[in-house]
Amino acid sequence: MTSTDSAGLQLVIRNARLSDDGELYHIAVREGTIVGLTTRDEDPGPAQTVLDAQGRWVIPGAIDTHSHINQRAPEFEHVPGLGPEDNFAVESRGALAGGCTTALNYVQFGPPSLLDSYRAGLAAAGAQSMMNVFFHGCLMNMDQVAEIPQAVAEGIRTFKIFMPYRGEEARNLGGIGSLNHAQMRLAFAEIAAHDAHALVHAEDGDIVDHCMHREAVAGLDSLAGWERSRPTIAEGDAAWTAMYLAEEAGCPVSIVHVSSLEAIRARRAVGYPGAGLESCVHYMLLTTDSAIGPEGKVAPPLRDPDLAEAITAAVLAGEIDFFGSDHNVWPSAAKQEWTSAKPGLPGIGLMLPLLLTHLVYERGMSMARAVELTSRNAAVRFGLPGKGRIALGADADLVLLDEGQRKIRAGELHSAVDYSPYEGMTLRAWPYATVCGGTVVYEDGKFPNPDFRGELLNERFRTGAA
Ligand SMILES: [Zn+2]
Repeated sequence: MTSTDSAGLQLVIRNARLSDDGELYHIAVREGTIVGLTTRDEDPGPAQTVLDAQGRWVIPGAIDTHSHINQRAPEFEHVPGLGPEDNFAVESRGALAGGCTTALNYVQFGPPSLLDSYRAGLAAAGAQSMMNVFFHGCLMNMDQVAEIPQAVAEGIRTFKIFMPYRGEEARNLGGIGSLNHAQMRLAFAEIAAHDAHALVHAEDGDIVDHCMHREAVAGLDSLAGWERSRPTIAEGDAAWTAMYLAEEAGCPVSIVHVSSLEAIRARRAVGYPGAGLESCVHYMLLTTDSAIGPEGKVAPPLRDPDLAEAITAAVLAGEIDFFGSDHNVWPSAAKQEWTSAKPGLPGIGLMLPLLLTHLVYERGMSMARAVELTSRNAAVRFGLPGKGRIALGADADLVLLDEGQRKIRAGELHSAVDYSPYEGMTLRAWPYATVCGGTVVYEDGKFPNPDFRGELLNERFRTGAA
């Protein structure tokens, strides 16, 4: 292919499998950027670090479009890894060990000001995170909608709107506020006016409230009961509304963590080209039959096995654009009892290995398509053109894969979360090594450059001072 002069190479990865063409390549990196791609018989020259892939697949690092690291519930700050000093430090290691080099992470929900949350998040991630972090903002009330212009000036490109949470449920979640339809309409207009992007948690609050009350009276005691409390029709109703209102405002919108066929049907029916759909591997691999009790509580809920299979089919048919883990760092102590269990699952370090295992190794998806779903599509949609591809000029965020059989053990995931809903499942592919910005940040169970810090990607978009 192409080579460039080798002076000052930061990293060379030798013998990398990049496609199904049977050829192996050498990847040369300088200052975090891919500067050379040569075939096997063309030596890229010396480098500070050389990794021999020995014919392993090398793919772009995953972009997790949905994580909640550093939400920091005060009642768990004494738990190792969940305190304010080490949240990104711990969870970014778990992410990198799982091949995720970039997290699109939500700012903390608690503080009244979006800007205060965002600035604190930037400081924490900048000090602690070994992976790249790109913060999503959140709009929980009209005061936060009024902060959009300044947030955009400081580099926020994406704003999440919640539809389901009302009353007591909102209070129990630390004050997550949902916008009503009139407020959403104004928020979409403001986001569009600033050339930014909306993200919507699409579950209709009226339907959820009603169904939740019914299940609470019946005595919520199973994943099936939790699912009945947030039925698929709530997701469909909200997704239709969100896409319709966003289209009217000319605002790009992504429906996040799609758990049913209803949001997919809504996108087809509305036909808005500015709409994107994110799903999560747990909607394909975990169900209301999974033997995980309240630890499986998540919103939207896990569905029945037939629907989980239908989500897999929809992904294979091209109906989903990108994946997020919806990683939450609740310890098992927060997930003991059905009513009080915090909703949310851990998963940032397993998103890529599980998706590859399920779709590529078991269902015959091409690696190229899996790369689109785990990094490329998100890179294009969210304005990170150097990510999600291996090419000259691209960002050197890379994963070398091992293949075989490996059982998932929570204790091996380098996360502060002390359980995994996937415990005991078998992976067919997982990272041997992970490279972030040209630095080897994970290799064979170890973190060889622990002082490395990932890039705060919002800074690429900053136009004004704090
Ligand atoms: Zn989430």
